Amino acid sequence: MATRASVMDCSVGSKKLSPSRVRVAVRLRPFMEKDDKAQQPCVRGLDAQSLEIVNWRNQLETMQYQFDAFYGNESSQREVYSGSVCPILTNLLNGQNASVFAYGPTGAGKTHTMLGNPAQPGVIPRAVRDLLQLTRAAGGTSDNSGWTYSITMSYVEIYQEKVMDLLEPKNKDLPIREDKDHNILIPGLTQKTISTFSDFDEHFIPASQNRTVACTKLNDRSSRSHAVLLIKVLKTQQVMPYRQLTGKLYLIDLAGSEDNRRTGNQGIRLKESGAINSSLFTLSKVVDALNQGLPRIPYRDSKLTRLLQDSLGGSAHSVMITNIAPEQKYYFDTLTALNFAAKSKQIINRPFCQETVPAAVQPPAKRLREDAESTSSSRQLKKSKTEGGDDSPNPEENRVKRKLNLASLDPAVVERLLKLDKILTEKGMKETQLLSTPKRERMALLKKWEESQVEIERLKEKQKELEQKALAAEARLEKSNTSDSGLSDSSVNESTFRAPLRGRKRVTSTAKSKKVVRVLPLQENNQQKNSILEEGLPVFEKKTRSACEGRENEPGWEVKIRSDLLQSGRQKILHLLNCGSVKELKSLQKIGDKKAKLIMGWREVNGPFTNVEDLASLEGMSLKQVTSFLKANIMTMVTS
Ligand code: ADP
Ligand code: MG
Repeated sequence: MATRASVMDCSVGSKKLSPSRVRVAVRLRPFMEKDDKAQQPCVRGLDAQSLEIVNWRNQLETMQYQFDAFYGNESSQREVYSGSVCPILTNLLNGQNASVFAYGPTGAGKTHTMLGNPAQPGVIPRAVRDLLQLTRAAGGTSDNSGWTYSITMSYVEIYQEKVMDLLEPKNKDLPIREDKDHNILIPGLTQKTISTFSDFDEHFIPASQNRTVACTKLNDRSSRSHAVLLIKVLKTQQVMPYRQLTGKLYLIDLAGSEDNRRTGNQGIRLKESGAINSSLFTLSKVVDALNQGLPRIPYRDSKLTRLLQDSLGGSAHSVMITNIAPEQKYYFDTLTALNFAAKSKQIINRPFCQETVPAAVQPPAKRLREDAESTSSSRQLKKSKTEGGDDSPNPEENRVKRKLNLASLDPAVVERLLKLDKILTEKGMKETQLLSTPKRERMALLKKWEESQVEIERLKEKQKELEQKALAAEARLEKSNTSDSGLSDSSVNESTFRAPLRGRKRVTSTAKSKKVVRVLPLQENNQQKNSILEEGLPVFEKKTRSACEGRENEPGWEVKIRSDLLQSGRQKILHLLNCGSVKELKSLQKIGDKKAKLIMGWREVNGPFTNVEDLASLEGMSLKQVTSFLKANIMTMVTS
């Protein structure tokens, strides 16, 4: 494969003249939870070098990225190692330096890639084992001109811009220096000689535990510090002139690249995230400058890059393995990581998730024509928005149907999506460059995007559910053949249903006959449309008889949204989430003892929830569950 070969081909560069570029590999981990498998991934591989991610602004577009290598969710540890790391190791025996670092958001698989586990050893154990073997083999050949090899290891952690010695924890905040030959060194850093793999284990395991101890004390510090393993290969001539060559290999598990500030961190967490953000930002500038061949590389701007100065760029061989996760909740972090890793991307006009549209609704030929008509960039899409489509009297609706591939949905649903999409598009137009916008706005956009996903899913489910109810109601009505069975087929098709209203406490009528609920198509009520689209949560409201079809003298009930009420309901829920005791939390629907405790724990670690949707970051809580939690509680809150 071209990429792997090109990594292998990285031969000795002419020293200092042409800095070698940083090879970039991307690894997508599999879904971790069984439940997650039900959801669509937000990113997927195309071939051994490229992948695509859904365009947050338009589901009919994907953004495609190309890298030196792409490892899909089924790739093994061995493939990653032999494809991107093993080929650079021989350079160490010639006194050259190398670095391998794992980048990406917390939970995306950096530690798995670098360290792995006994059943699936990662880059670190494999590289150490191979280097030991390589030096043993090279030292044992008859034509080695009297060279011997020895290997040493050091292990440091860079936490809040301080270099800590993990082999000797009392060595804190070690300095980084440069000698007259421009070699970077850490005076006072512990160095252990290793001749066998068990020597390595003997030092590495307790050192890793030093890291783990700190990690439990400080709330998973491991995801907020860089772990740097340094393996030095010392090559010494046994005859005159007794030359010595040192090759250094840095194996780095970087801090999580997610934006730690977005959860409202305070105090030490804020300081930590500031340090992470600035060192990862400097790393990105360094990688960028190297890959663009810029004359000035800003190594000195952070401890991490300063430490890597002689092993990243220059004649060194560097590989960055960007780890990404498939789940929707990682979407924004994945996008940020991909944009960090790749300096170019292409927007391709094709849907990420191809939905099947029944032939009766949209014949294939027509669909093809529509695809061909679609434009290939978001700018062109905006143009098409203003021009509209040509196969519907309502160009805006037509565009959205095409965009979201929802032609088979009920008009009322399309109407809702239309509005939702409009909100998103308007927002999107203002923010032409997602990644150059301030973080808060990016987060708001992401949230909107996530909400729209949830809303679309919810609407589809609702649509199905309503259709079933309609059919059941129709069947019942036909059977009873009562005078109020005035619904025609066409009204059912328009999503106008009659169904028993169960479990709604607000139904106070004592009439013995069946209560009737009518879910009005949104076209019928503009105000209702807006509020549903803004909040996505229905509130049932009493409706005057004249406006609804019900039995005479009976009140009708209509799905209606009041965004102001919803907002206040949300605020009440949020307040409870932030201030409630376990008991109070348990008074909420869908919150049991375990979830209440998780909420308390989350609060302690992350500070107050800024949004009810933050609940999705709790263990075992998906955005979908948050939506259903909201639905279950909002009525009580609104009326309390
Ligand atoms: P990070 O270090 O980026 O925070 P981890 O390496 O700890 O992420 O990965 C999170 C979880 O996902 C771990 O349980 C890990 O074992 C698992 N995991 C990550 N990548 C893979 C993979 N490629 N195959 C199987 N499990 C993986
Ligand atoms: Mg990790």
